[in-house]
Amino acid sequence: MAFEAFESSLKTLEMLNGLASTLFRARPVILYTFISRFSPNSHGFLTITPTRLFTPAASLRRDENKEVDDYAELKEKVENFGICCNSVTPEEYTRLMCPKCKGGRSMEKSLSFHMSSKRNSALWRCFNIDCGWAGQIPHNSAASDGVHQRGRINFPRILTEESLNLEPLGDMLAAYFSKRMISMNTLKRNHVMQMAGDQIIIAFTYRRNGMLIGCKYRTLEKRFWQEKGADKVLYGLDDVREADEIIIVEGEIDKLSVEEAGFPNCVSVPNGAPQGIASKELLPLEEDTRFSYLWNCNECLEKASRIVLATDGDLPGQALAEELARRLGKERCWQVCWPKKNELSSYKDANEVLVNLGREALKEAIECAVPYEMQNLN
Ligand SMILES: [Zn+2]
Repeated sequence: MAFEAFESSLKTLEMLNGLASTLFRARPVILYTFISRFSPNSHGFLTITPTRLFTPAASLRRDENKEVDDYAELKEKVENFGICCNSVTPEEYTRLMCPKCKGGRSMEKSLSFHMSSKRNSALWRCFNIDCGWAGQIPHNSAASDGVHQRGRINFPRILTEESLNLEPLGDMLAAYFSKRMISMNTLKRNHVMQMAGDQIIIAFTYRRNGMLIGCKYRTLEKRFWQEKGADKVLYGLDDVREADEIIIVEGEIDKLSVEEAGFPNCVSVPNGAPQGIASKELLPLEEDTRFSYLWNCNECLEKASRIVLATDGDLPGQALAEELARRLGKERCWQVCWPKKNELSSYKDANEVLVNLGREALKEAIECAVPYEMQNLN
């Protein structure tokens, strides 16, 4: 009897799994969340590890093999152009040595290269002004019109500290950060810079694999803007590349504050908090643009076994925590409660705690995070 019930539950789960993949074309993280809501835990005896549910069906496996073959073929074509793409991660931009100019006088990796195993395409451009070599291997021309595809692929701008007119932090901003208890060491380690010129503008540089890929600006009057056309990623991404535990905060200064409390394994979302929680089901990945940074950083996030959400204590901050948790899987999320300021209110964020209560108090608040699902019972 128990076995029959188990089998039928398993079938239901597998059906849901199929349904979820069809409906959402979701990555495992979403799938896990989706299924966990339907898991018949109440039966008491049913324990299935999530990975059991992701075993690909035989047909799926064939597709994967085909993808692997296509990818090997694509790689060979690229290598015929003299481009060595062993260090390339598909779907990400990588800088490689240009086989034409070898990086010119500075001998830097001047070839911006992108390869997509999904679209079976590759494209590249050398940003050494004296060279400028560019090329592409089009999307499988038999499958669709290559011309149309061509028009849609845009190269992101190549960013450098010089092209953005950035310079090291001056005295004024060093004093500003010192008041916010952020040390020069932390600022340097995170490559916080300023815009050259008369105005005082902080430049938070966004990097991936050490390369500058975006920049967010902030005036002392709290006006924000970002470099256009940059890939949306988490701030501090390289600090969580191998982390088993990741702390997520709501702003760049909070990331720096958490580092002051002894946790470099922290990232900030790039675009603050939403106004409220979207009540509807999660959007398919392609349309989930507000949270595209999560999917762009998934290779780092998916490795973490524990994610500590340390967003602001206000309503938008709590909405952000909920939106992050439902995408990352609530099961592995913990939430920080900021310490009380007085009878009626609490401190708002990591920097407020650091400035008012100090490093130890901030460290303690983070260490006392509670499981997300326990904190948000309803
Ligand atoms: Zn070149």
